[in-house]
Amino acid sequence: MKVKSSLMCQNCGRQTSHELHYVGSSLHEIRCLQCSTETWGHHHPVAGYVGEMRGRIVTKPWRVLREMTTEPAAIRSLLPRVASKPVRVASELIEILR
Ligand SMILES: [Zn+2]
Repeated sequence: MKVKSSLMCQNCGRQTSHELHYVGSSLHEIRCLQCSTETWGHHHPVAGYVGEMRGRIVTKPWRVLREMTTEPAAIRSLLPRVASKPVRVASELIEILR
């Protein structure tokens, strides 16, 4: 997911529009849209994603259990979410490898 935000660019010396590139919940890259300077970049995106995914997998049973106890109606959306998970993970991986 790419989000635009106005940030201070040290290369341009003023506030400019930047693109923030998220992969999953991790910030992958911040790039100035005026001069293309990369302010911050995760140069090992696959390793970062694997680490994030490991945490998501370990905590998933607890998050599902909490959701089922606090929002019982959410059980109806569980099966479609489980079924679409491989596609969503593949989309995130494709976004990393671009
Ligand atoms: Zn700039």
